[in-house]
Amino acid sequence: MAAGRLRLLVATTNENKVREIRQLLDGAPVEIVTLAGWPGVETPDETGATFEENARAKALYYAAATGELTVAEDSGLSIDALGGAPGVESARFGGVDLSYPRKFARIHAALREKGQPESAARFVCALALVRGGEVLFETRGVVEGRIAPEARGHGGFGYDPIFFYPPYGQTLAEAGDAKAAVSHRGEAFRALRAWLASHL
Ligand code: IMP
Repeated sequence: MAAGRLRLLVATTNENKVREIRQLLDGAPVEIVTLAGWPGVETPDETGATFEENARAKALYYAAATGELTVAEDSGLSIDALGGAPGVESARFGGVDLSYPRKFARIHAALREKGQPESAARFVCALALVRGGEVLFETRGVVEGRIAPEARGHGGFGYDPIFFYPPYGQTLAEAGDAKAAVSHRGEAFRALRAWLASHL
């Protein structure tokens, strides 16, 4: 297939995700388009109990609304000592308007209460690729780490400053471009790249 021929809608309204996904798909045989091209399409509610359900629902919704080959992902932070919270509620934890420093403070307080201030944690990214009403491909990426006792670093986004990645001895917000090599989103989108290369 000629480079740039196939259009792939990266269906997320999160600019940080779009930036990371563009880098991860750099050189893939697709022309990336974003939701900026469909300003009238409303954002769906995320009501699924799992990352997979939400990724699939978003991909099916945006593929139906736009007619494009569509990839959507649902991701978040899962903390062992908090029973997997904030999980699918990561973006909404404490309210969408609560700043990340305040979200971090809540997490640190909850972990202190549990006596596990540096609990094991993971970032998860579920991805679904849809054309029309058909799910063509699904995958999940995970990165294992633990909660840092204080926020460190200014790169990345969201919970990266409190996600300590032991092999780097840093938080993912300190890791810069090295985040992509080990991140949940990196793992999921590398699998998508491989699938696209062999199926389209
Ligand atoms: P979603 O839009 O429902 O998938 O929400 C994802 C939320 O999970 C983001 O808004 C962040 O709070 C968190 N999250 C997902 N991926 C990352 C990441 O790579 N770094 C930090 N936080 C993340």
